[in-house]
Amino acid sequence: MNEPRIMQFQVAQLLKDPVGATRDYLVDEVINILEGSPPGRVWGRVDFLRTSRGVLARGRLNTRVELACSRCLESFQCELEYGFEEEYFPVLDIYHDEYIGKPEDNDSFIIDENHILDITEAARQYAILAIPMKPLCRPGCEGIKL
Ligand SMILES: [Zn+2]
Repeated sequence: MNEPRIMQFQVAQLLKDPVGATRDYLVDEVINILEGSPPGRVWGRVDFLRTSRGVLARGRLNTRVELACSRCLESFQCELEYGFEEEYFPVLDIYHDEYIGKPEDNDSFIIDENHILDITEAARQYAILAIPMKPLCRPGCEGIKL
């Protein structure tokens, strides 16, 4: 079994770049998605855009989670393709090394004091949001045969 990892990026240079600067990355990591399930591979691409307040991270990601089919109740690997978009706020001023602290909204994503932007939590949360309400093991599953 693969050990779960994290998806972290060093963005010190991007924070020094002017607003509008971008970076693109390919991601392919194994992370924890669903509690109680084995870690899952998440792959795709992410781009970062320098904003006036921080970094806007946008991702197009893919993963598979094990779900129970809503008709036949068999478990199956459900492919998820999903996007996310979140702005990350630095806790440290990049030029003066001064602590600016977390934004007032506690749910905001942050760039830590080492200028590391971690998309693991966003990748996990948005994967869960992408899970269909009534998952089907295959199109047209006819359910439990009596
Ligand atoms: Zn089914």
